[in-house]
Amino acid sequence: MDEVSALGAEDVAFGDAFGRVLREDVIAPFDAPQADNSAMDGYAVRSEDLPGTLRVIGTIPAGHLATERVEAGTAMRIMTGAFVPDGADTVVQVELTDGGTEVVTVQKALARGASIRRRGEDMRAGDVVLRRGTCIGAAEIAMLAGVQKRVVSVGRKPIVAILSTGDELIEVDAPRVPGKIVNTNAPLLAALVRDAGAIPRSLGIVPDTREATIAALTSAASSDFILTSGGVSVGAFDFVKDALDALGAETRFWKVAMKPGKPVVLSRLGHSVCFGLPGNPVSCFVSFHLFVAPALRKAAGQEADLFPPAVRARLTSPLRAADRRVYFRVHVSARDGELVAQPLAAQGSGSLTSMIHANGLAVVEAQTSVDAGAFATTLLIGPVSAG
Ligand code: AMP
Ligand code: MG
Repeated sequence: MDEVSALGAEDVAFGDAFGRVLREDVIAPFDAPQADNSAMDGYAVRSEDLPGTLRVIGTIPAGHLATERVEAGTAMRIMTGAFVPDGADTVVQVELTDGGTEVVTVQKALARGASIRRRGEDMRAGDVVLRRGTCIGAAEIAMLAGVQKRVVSVGRKPIVAILSTGDELIEVDAPRVPGKIVNTNAPLLAALVRDAGAIPRSLGIVPDTREATIAALTSAASSDFILTSGGVSVGAFDFVKDALDALGAETRFWKVAMKPGKPVVLSRLGHSVCFGLPGNPVSCFVSFHLFVAPALRKAAGQEADLFPPAVRARLTSPLRAADRRVYFRVHVSARDGELVAQPLAAQGSGSLTSMIHANGLAVVEAQTSVDAGAFATTLLIGPVSAG
């Protein structure tokens, strides 16, 4: 995370800010509500007149202002949201009255101020209503509209180059050939990149030669981030690490004591941050969630919730780790008020099926196991299922 800082900001129309990260504090320019107003459909009254029978002197629909005062012994019909007229200090909801239009009878006394939303009770002029670093969702869009902030400063979306190394790879629309496999990592990573609020630039398949790998990394180096998949292990045709070294990249780490995802490399290549991700689809998926997604969020300007949240989830079957910490793909659901994690049947790192329905990673430390029915620390990488 220390290798990453927030990129620049840009202005967008507030309605286009969904999913972006706010890069300025948003301040309320006025009080809201603008004035004391009715929280109910009912009658605006003077509390000291209750209980009693009052003369109805008018009606105030929402969006309209009263032209008269409520004097002793009178009331005005008032609709939800309409400003409370001068002279009135209380609203009686219609259900507590006989609903009269000429005269109205209220059987009970009410505390002064009942059913009135006070001026400024939602926000006051000068309040910071949205903080810099906030991720903008539907509620935040509503707030931007509410304070009439029509143009807003958000973090630039990181541009992420995706390189798929491997002589065995063909693109999705190519005919099937013995020995070749479809490049599934590029679309996987493109979707994950979008989900993390960044822009994917798939640069295609890179043959397993040192020269081709160097050329591909060079062409990717104008992006904010580079993701490579495959070719980062210790095989005879793995050239990512070599090529990074040849280009003078500064490698911060290579190989992590985890499963899957052991060969992950992190380097600085010029202005780009380069993640060398493993070729196995599941390793690619897991290492993206653990390393890349938090970095992309930080680059977009997000300040909180960078990492997947960790919860305790009850395992439906036992899990065991050998020499390395393992991140098992699990399906997390809410059952009887607690979180349950069901390990997915296929756990092989080459298996696409083991990612389907994976919304959690159950973490089991090296040389330990967790029994069925016991809790495992689980990182949430998607919404919890309703069960
Ligand atoms: P590597 O790390 O290059 O040895 O690749 C490990 C495994 O992942 C091999 O079985 C590769 O065929 C597979 N693999 C590598 N890249 C991709 C990709 N882009 N899409 C799907 N599988 C891949
Ligand atoms: Mg390879």
